[in-house]
Amino acid sequence: MHELSVAGSIIELALSSVKPGSIITKINLKVGEHAGINAGSLVFAFDVLKIDAGLSAAELAIEEVKAAFRCRRCGLEQIMEIPPDKCSCGNDSFDLSRGRESFIESLEVED
Ligand SMILES: [Zn+2]
Repeated sequence: MHELSVAGSIIELALSSVKPGSIITKINLKVGEHAGINAGSLVFAFDVLKIDAGLSAAELAIEEVKAAFRCRRCGLEQIMEIPPDKCSCGNDSFDLSRGRESFIESLEVED
């Protein structure tokens, strides 16, 4: 399961970002619509791994980032799940400009 290794990376990253002894209560994660991550599986994997990692108190909160496509000709960015047929400038070639990334936005910690 891909989400298991993603959950492992999140835990490593979270632990390395706080002082030793701090208790992480919440990890706010942003996941792109096209990141290829299933939020339900990720939370499940996180809840399994967090026990051994000493993060039992931590909750993983996932917020989805909507995908956006940028026109290769005029640069217009449009938020949509799939690329539009045509841009208003007439071009039909787009880049996925948002929605593929996943990152920790913030951590909530108790000292
Ligand atoms: Zn355009």
